[in-house]
Amino acid sequence: MKRMSQKRIKGKPIMSECIFCKIASGEMNADIVYRDDKVVAFRDIAPQAPVHVIIIPADHVERIEAVKNYDIFGEIFRAINVIIKDDATGAFKQGFRVVSNSGRAGGQTVDHLHFHLLSGRQMLWPPG
Ligand code: 5GP
Ligand code: ZN
Repeated sequence: MKRMSQKRIKGKPIMSECIFCKIASGEMNADIVYRDDKVVAFRDIAPQAPVHVIIIPADHVERIEAVKNYDIFGEIFRAINVIIKDDATGAFKQGFRVVSNSGRAGGQTVDHLHFHLLSGRQMLWPPG
């Protein structure tokens, strides 16, 4: 895998080639739906459901097993709850799915930890 150079913006590590780091830092545009010091959430550019939000840690970490401080999972799920409670469409009341693809066989295409929050249609099981 291509090694990415590490820069720091406002003291925080960012990976210069990582699109989700660029979205978190504001270098790249995205439809941001939630932001705090630790977590950023934005609409997926290729939505797989009527509501499709990506939730990421603001600081770069590749995937679940690279996480050292597990507090970030609490921060992410707290943000998910805020997004769900603030939603005006009513989609989440019918149900939703949270999923994190990890590694190539897991379907991960962007190597910055993220959770997909999907809603607004009937989800299928098993997933493809
Ligand atoms: P993965 O395939 O790694 O689980 O999820 C990556 C997700 O990021 C995909 O659903 C893809 O559509 C989304 N994505 C990739 N590039 C961009 C981008 O530049 N902006 C936004 N908003 N989403 C992106
Ligand atoms: Zn990143």
